[in-house]
Amino acid sequence: MGRKKIVCGNWKMNLLPDEVNFLLQKIIFLLKEKPAPNIEKIIAPPFIYLNGISKKLDELILSAQNCSSEKNGAFTGEISAKMLYSVGVQNIIIGHSERRNYFFETHEILTKKVNRCLENNLQPIFCVGEKLEERNSNLQFEIVEKQLRESLFHLDKNHFSKLIIAYEPVWAIGTGVTATSEQAQEMHQHIRKIISEKYGKEIAEQISILYGGSCNAANAKELFSCADIDGGLIGGASLKAEDFVQIIHSF
Ligand code: PEP
Repeated sequence: MGRKKIVCGNWKMNLLPDEVNFLLQKIIFLLKEKPAPNIEKIIAPPFIYLNGISKKLDELILSAQNCSSEKNGAFTGEISAKMLYSVGVQNIIIGHSERRNYFFETHEILTKKVNRCLENNLQPIFCVGEKLEERNSNLQFEIVEKQLRESLFHLDKNHFSKLIIAYEPVWAIGTGVTATSEQAQEMHQHIRKIISEKYGKEIAEQISILYGGSCNAANAKELFSCADIDGGLIGGASLKAEDFVQIIHSF
């Protein structure tokens, strides 16, 4: 069986309620006009919309953008994985570079978040990626390997096989500068090799690895045609229904 093809739209901290309804309806309409039955289509809206739209998704899958590293209790302002599961969330984006950089999420915190997801039957979309200065120093392969090892390699085979990995070079996120398909493929292949060394070939071949970083309707086809790229984590372009759906049709 081939790997799952996945496109996930990360809406970040954007959209007011009317805009959410408009975008959602339009995506659903466009997918009814031109279905993409074999592609897993995920949206990650801000927390406050998750419960309200969870019954209006048609075949879209609901993801959160974050969850607490704690189980429950006196953690003002936090949202637990268990709460998210209870309102129909199936995936959680963990380790996004904006969380690592602006909210100082360390690998210890990310490890706990991954654990909270898996305890609650939620599938993490775990993001890795190097900064520009790291790529310029040719450190990208060891940085990504370290990120994988530190936050994920405590998992047993069964839990690890439930993950989605997203390679998101930080220099490509929201910048309009996309990794070339050669750069992306090279890193995806590297990630699969590292996974294979730790968990075996079967699991490495089965895990979906998404590319993220200024992926859009114009460049998705070339990126998704690479052997080890199984889809995309899409920021800016996921806020426009036509672009998002075109990306979904780019396999
Ligand atoms: C992201 O934030 O995950 C992302 C890939 O953003 P963008 O597509 O806007 O670069």
